[in-house]
Amino acid sequence: MRYSGLRILAEGVTGNRGWRPVWRDPEPKPAYDIVIIGGGGHGLATAFYLAREHGLTNVAVLEKGYLGGGNVGRNTTIVRANYFLPGNSEFYSHSLKLWEGLEAELNYNVMHSQRGLINLFHSDGQRDAFVRRGNAMAIQGDDAILLDRDGVRRHLPYLDFDNPRFPVHGGLLHPRGGTARHDAVAWGYARGADARGVDLIQNCEVTGIDIENGRVTGVRTTRGAIMAKKVGIVVAGRSGQVAAMAGMRLPIESHILQAFVTEGLKPMIDHVVSFGMGHFYISQSDKGGLVFGGDLDFYASYAARGNLPMKEHVMEAAMTLMPAIGKAKVLRSWGGIMDMTPDGSPIIDRSPVEGLYLNCGWCYGGFKAVPGSGYAFAHLLALDRPHETAARFRLDRFRTGRGLMDEEGTGSQHNLH
Ligand SMILES: Cc1cc2nc3c(=O)[nH]c(=O)nc-3n(C[C@H](O)[C@H](O)[C@H](O)COP(=O)(O)OP(=O)(O)OC[C@H]3O[C@@H](n4cnc5c(N)ncnc54)[C@H](O)[C@@H]3O)c2cc1C
Repeated sequence: MRYSGLRILAEGVTGNRGWRPVWRDPEPKPAYDIVIIGGGGHGLATAFYLAREHGLTNVAVLEKGYLGGGNVGRNTTIVRANYFLPGNSEFYSHSLKLWEGLEAELNYNVMHSQRGLINLFHSDGQRDAFVRRGNAMAIQGDDAILLDRDGVRRHLPYLDFDNPRFPVHGGLLHPRGGTARHDAVAWGYARGADARGVDLIQNCEVTGIDIENGRVTGVRTTRGAIMAKKVGIVVAGRSGQVAAMAGMRLPIESHILQAFVTEGLKPMIDHVVSFGMGHFYISQSDKGGLVFGGDLDFYASYAARGNLPMKEHVMEAAMTLMPAIGKAKVLRSWGGIMDMTPDGSPIIDRSPVEGLYLNCGWCYGGFKAVPGSGYAFAHLLALDRPHETAARFRLDRFRTGRGLMDEEGTGSQHNLH
């Protein structure tokens, strides 16, 4: 079913009886060419591009809960291409280009809004770092504009510019950065994959991975065994646990990241604002809620909810930057399980087991990566060679030390990312 303004009109005058379920609910088949474990953003995008780019449709996505119930539906929805290091820079640049054509490609409104992202700086040293980053972005072909203090004030008049600890000196504006409706991205990719024949199987937890003579032969699930020629592990915060089913120990720790939303307010913030010194970033949803978040909770955990000290820290950062926010009531907070790598950059690679592939290590930045990651992982699964935009996301960089991409410059201590 194609969506269009005309269809909405037609359905509106005929009692909305023509809408169909957005995807099927198939029983798992005994065997597939490719099984993808994990129905989050990356798994669903991979399935879509396998079908769309490579014509591979004998594919199943196995999701232990419901589609989009993981991090893809829990994040603060920021989409940007402002990475600094070669390897990340071209990957996120490609991903942003895919975002820009996504709604037309999927025939689905993912509410992608390029409202501009402003990274604030508060010292000369931080300004120099952002100038470097801006130059790297421009060389990559993306957009970056350096704003002085008055320039920031024109965009964000509500900030406290004269905070004694963090006076605002300026900012780096990335006009093509913005937000998207997170769960609509999962639904759009799910619909596109299903329409091309991919089986999306919910409530189907993978409990084991079958390997014979060093080659994957299938998976065991709560809905029975399923054979597969190739298997992709795309389970974000659960990557370590699922990889352990194949006898692997990944260079990944799982940490909680929290997010918060206030009651709906009149339009106030029309950009994404990032206050790195305070570990705080914020935007306003189309419903009016202020959506914001901060740093990781300070220890590894599989709990998808956070703890009070980080809540306090985030609220303090919010009040430091924009005291007016103190009048807003926080409606909800929640957490997601982040797959943190030691260098803060992801892994899209073969595993040591023949036919078993890894897509993980997205840290707290994997939402913006969804299109680029799905595209590159589908390329790897279909053709057995890395896509050029993901050529540096190798697993063995953590063993050899060659090719590490420490994007944040913080080393392996996750709570300092
Ligand atoms: C609070 C918060 C804020 C964030 N903010 C941003 C942001 O602003 N911008 C940004 O770019 N990124 C952000 N992120 C990160 C981003 O959301 C993640 O990196 C990304 O969504 C992870 O990939 P995914 O969508 O595939 O993960 P998920 O949606 O978690 O998908 C993995 C799926 O695997 C399933 N699964 C796990 N184990 C099994 C199993 N054994 N069998 C079957 N299925 C299984 C899970 O149920 C889950 O649905 C944020 C994350 C959080 C939590």
